[in-house]
Amino acid sequence: MKWETVIGLEVHAELSTKSKIFCACSTSFGSGPNTHVCPGCAGMPGALPVLNRAVLEYALRLGIALDCEITRYSKFDRKNYFYPDLPNAYQISQLYAPICRNGNLEIETESGKKKIGIHQIHMEEDAGKLVHDPRSGDTFMDFNRCGIPLLEIVSRPDFRSADEVIAYLEKLRETLLYLDVCDCKMQEGSIRADINLSVRHPGDGLGVRTETKNMNSFKAIVRAIEYERERQIEVLEDGGKLIQETRRWDDDKGMSYGMRAKVNAQDYRYFPDPDLLPLSIDEDWLARIRESLPELAYQKRERYIRDFGISESSAVVLTVHKNISGLFETVSQQSGAAIEAANLITGEIMRLMNNSNLLPEDLCIDAGKLSALIKLVTEGKINRSAYKETVEAVFSDNADPQEYIKEKGLMMVSDDKAVTEAVNAVIAENQSSAADYRAGKEKVFGFLMGQVMKKLGKGGNPELAKKALEAALKII
Ligand code: ZN
Ligand code: MN
Repeated sequence: MKWETVIGLEVHAELSTKSKIFCACSTSFGSGPNTHVCPGCAGMPGALPVLNRAVLEYALRLGIALDCEITRYSKFDRKNYFYPDLPNAYQISQLYAPICRNGNLEIETESGKKKIGIHQIHMEEDAGKLVHDPRSGDTFMDFNRCGIPLLEIVSRPDFRSADEVIAYLEKLRETLLYLDVCDCKMQEGSIRADINLSVRHPGDGLGVRTETKNMNSFKAIVRAIEYERERQIEVLEDGGKLIQETRRWDDDKGMSYGMRAKVNAQDYRYFPDPDLLPLSIDEDWLARIRESLPELAYQKRERYIRDFGISESSAVVLTVHKNISGLFETVSQQSGAAIEAANLITGEIMRLMNNSNLLPEDLCIDAGKLSALIKLVTEGKINRSAYKETVEAVFSDNADPQEYIKEKGLMMVSDDKAVTEAVNAVIAENQSSAADYRAGKEKVFGFLMGQVMKKLGKGGNPELAKKALEAALKII
């Protein structure tokens, strides 16, 4: 009998607010250990939390973008557990009245579009980090991450394959990026996914699920899903029983192992946090946020295809990051040539970025210079190879296109006299080739053409040169 995989995701996204969720400490990544810590986020007695308004605004932005119901009267709860990276011995989170509920995110699958249900989105604080030193056996504690704001996005168990999970994570990632809510640097742990997975025979109720925690690479997620699906099927087909547990994925070994039996919500003794007032969401504020939401990546893709006639694959590349779509929109507007701008960015610029291992978020290039170059090539002032060369100079040295073109002699030679002179000189120097051509050996034309272009230098106008050469060869 066939097995069906059922997957639900819990995604933790670290928010890109300047300060932490309940204190004024900085959220910046990569500082020395315990440099962004105050009595509040270190769990000192008597220090009280105050909600960072930006966190709530970010949650509302995401909730609206994912079509959620916004909870008008929302509350924070304490989730109690002891772990050395959690100085309060509780995490401030939301259980009873999370800020957003019942949303969805539409993904593209092999068999068409599919809506993945969002059960809820809640706000919570992150825990600190334990750093284990394998040589000394010591463990160090870094509380910088304590109190970093998180949104936890809990999906419904709507996924049936790893492909669907990846499509969802990619779409969620670009949504978070376009909303300016999270920098989505997976290597820094800005997005982490917990995978809840069970298997069943189609039509049956849900099977026993396991949770593989803290996955922060798409590749590892795919492998962990395949592994856990196979493992569960094997246990069940051998007549064994699965236990509900939390598992840790070891990417080097390509396997996961059980960490602890999964506890239920009641084990955490959740109760409303007495230090934080309930939130009452103002309708005007919500309306203002709704109006201020930016155009999202998928909306941009649809618009580019519809308004500019850009291919779907190009539209995907152009919206990979808002830095790229922003560049495209500026260049296409300034140059008035959208297709040309799309070709430039998806072709030459992407190639140069790949060669220098530059990430889309780090691309910094003068849009005005690119627009000017597009004008020069479309107006026939420079040829394609000069265009390409100058784009590269702008990309790597921020060169000034006009100066660079002048300096390198790239301006197209469209002066009839210069072209005629070059053609006549080439024919004079290659009389036997010219005679061959005239006798019907058409292949020689390419060679003669090459000689003319060489004489004209980098600025040669190939169209003009071709016409002049053809004309000159006709005259005997
Ligand atoms: Zn603090
Ligand atoms: Mn959580």
